[in-house]
Amino acid sequence: MPIGDHVVYSPRSWADIGPHVFPMEKYAGVYRRLEEEDGLAGSLVPEPPADEELLRVHSPAYLADLADGHHTPRTVASELPLTGEIADFFRLACSGSALAARTALERGWAAHLGGGFHHAFREKAEGFCYLNDLAVAARAVQADGSAERVTVIDLDVHQGNGTAAIFRGDSSVYTFSLHQEDNYPVKERSDRDIGLVSFDPSRPGTAWVDDALYLETLDAALAEVLEESRPDLVLYQAGADPYERDQLGGFRLTLDGLRRRDESVYRACRQRGVPVAATFGGGYAIDVADTIAIHLETVRAARRVLGGAA
Ligand SMILES: [Zn+2]
Repeated sequence: MPIGDHVVYSPRSWADIGPHVFPMEKYAGVYRRLEEEDGLAGSLVPEPPADEELLRVHSPAYLADLADGHHTPRTVASELPLTGEIADFFRLACSGSALAARTALERGWAAHLGGGFHHAFREKAEGFCYLNDLAVAARAVQADGSAERVTVIDLDVHQGNGTAAIFRGDSSVYTFSLHQEDNYPVKERSDRDIGLVSFDPSRPGTAWVDDALYLETLDAALAEVLEESRPDLVLYQAGADPYERDQLGGFRLTLDGLRRRDESVYRACRQRGVPVAATFGGGYAIDVADTIAIHLETVRAARRVLGGAA
């Protein structure tokens, strides 16, 4: 199956957010490299979502705030401007992740060149996230009847606080977050949280979470999480910000370590026959090309481990 049958991308995945640490150009950047280097010829293109899809997660009042296009107490913690274009960007991210989830259930895996906006709550924006596409995707496949149990594996350097809060007390969606404890955000409780501190407590100022420590921690946790949650689908938030040259993270993973991280997730899913849909999440490398390279490898690793010919 061509790689384009697994890749979800819209050329409209961009919005003007002004001067900002969030690199909007990364989505088109990954797409272009897949075209030039990996034989990608067209992708699955999401359409803007029906309100019904968003209302499974977000409140009508909050969606009305977004539609009005001016900040309210519910939207202001986004740390982003709020325009119609920006609201549309986040709506499209939701349908993109829902399309990726549906595609994964049909074809074994999918990668959304977008999404992973895990800091958005039911009725509150936070941390560059207005709408929680992971939650919308989980609810979409549940509403379809194509998956009952969904597990979110969130490996962004920041905790998936919005996702955790949305699914708190809901046994049909299991949330797992491996993140930097001494960093944004204020933590919510996921079904499984592993918060690693970024420094060696016995040697303040020294880097601590390197490839070896991270991957050892992850591999042990993945086996337990999948055994405990027994999902029909995994939604993978493959944040690029555990990278050693990230501006907003304190981990010290190398490009190679991040590639092995992705492979670990996919292998664990493959061993249990669980389809997986990947989303990008954060990524604030000093050099945007590094963020693009990390996300690109998340797609390539899926193809390597989970299949798909040129
Ligand atoms: Zn992040």
